[in-house]
Amino acid sequence: MIDVLVVGLGPAGASAAAAAARRGLSVLAVDRKREAGRPVQCAELVPAMIGMDVGDLAASVRQSIRAMATFVEDEAPDVKENFPGRMLDRAAFDAALVAEAVRAGARCRFGTNLRGIGRERPQVIIGADGPRSLAGRAIGSVNHERVETRQVTVPLLAPHEATDIFLSADIPGGYGWLFPKGGVANLGAGVAPAQRGRLKDIVARLHRSLAAEGRVGRKVLATTGGAIPVGGMLEPWAMLDRTLVLLAGDAAGLTNPVTGAGIAAAVHSGRLAGEAAAAWISGDRRAAADYQEELESVFKPALDRAVRRRSELARAGERPGARALRRGWIAYPEYWA
Ligand SMILES: Cc1cc2nc3c(=O)[nH]c(=O)nc-3n(C[C@H](O)[C@H](O)[C@H](O)COP(=O)(O)OP(=O)(O)OC[C@H]3O[C@@H](n4cnc5c(N)ncnc54)[C@H](O)[C@@H]3O)c2cc1C
Repeated sequence: MIDVLVVGLGPAGASAAAAAARRGLSVLAVDRKREAGRPVQCAELVPAMIGMDVGDLAASVRQSIRAMATFVEDEAPDVKENFPGRMLDRAAFDAALVAEAVRAGARCRFGTNLRGIGRERPQVIIGADGPRSLAGRAIGSVNHERVETRQVTVPLLAPHEATDIFLSADIPGGYGWLFPKGGVANLGAGVAPAQRGRLKDIVARLHRSLAAEGRVGRKVLATTGGAIPVGGMLEPWAMLDRTLVLLAGDAAGLTNPVTGAGIAAAVHSGRLAGEAAAAWISGDRRAAADYQEELESVFKPALDRAVRRRSELARAGERPGARALRRGWIAYPEYWA
């Protein structure tokens, strides 16, 4: 008999499984993927601070980031120094977190697609199953607002230590990015779902212009994409009869709606969800409400601000000007005002 079922073995699920198993619970964690972290659907940038939550980060890091350069339309870039980050090998990162969960005693099964939540249930289910969470749907917490993305990996022709961000009226509801990772770079864009049909052209145009500048090669080494939740934090728990359902990571809407960054929040919330599961099972009936309170105090202010900035930008019309684009991006003081 298991105590906790974890759905999804991305950063949130693996962290949750490890935390719950470490507290002596019997944990089963499942993922529909055949192996941890593959295929990669990520631009692989994390804040350097994530090292506080992840002990064994070094083996997954491919390069350091020190600055962020923001290009607004065709203007010269605004460079923000002191933007410390790490570019990961996301597949290695996810695999390391799963290995940690296994070491802690969790049973982790890949190639297992949960199709629904049946009547036979453990005491706690942790929904760490991403932006289209089945566990979330079961308790009515659904990410309705999402951004669609496309990304190519290309050769990087000169070493670079900044993340380049491209803001333009021609990338509606999102932005473009070039993130360096040693000898290659992740080049992509996210847009509002209604503009999804334009994504391929948007990324190809960005690729052509960076290739023409001699910064990247013309070859496409890999292509990926996926959905990013951008509606902000959802209610992260509810009871399904006698089963407590907790949501973590993208399933709980913890990804930043402006930047799309969600790895650090997934790791942190996953650990908290695993701890909350253990507290609940040991009889602490406040554990679920405490979990929500903790998520709200750590994440909600930043998420709420990002949601506000997104809607202001949407209200600026179909072709927002440079001023509106700047107010909608984290590198500018007006974003934080
Ligand atoms: C193109 C792209 C680029 C991104 N770039 C960045 C970035 O640079 N930095 C950053 O911080 N964030 C980035 N993100 C966001 C980041 O990838 C997510 O926030 C992060 O993966 C969330 O982790 P998670 O564990 O909550 O969910 P996920 O990583 O999505 O893991 C969920 C897991 O659940 C499994 N699953 C889902 N449903 C089921 C089911 N029914 N049964 C079994 N298993 C199931 C999935 O297979 C998956 O492995 C990006 C996202 C995209 C799409």
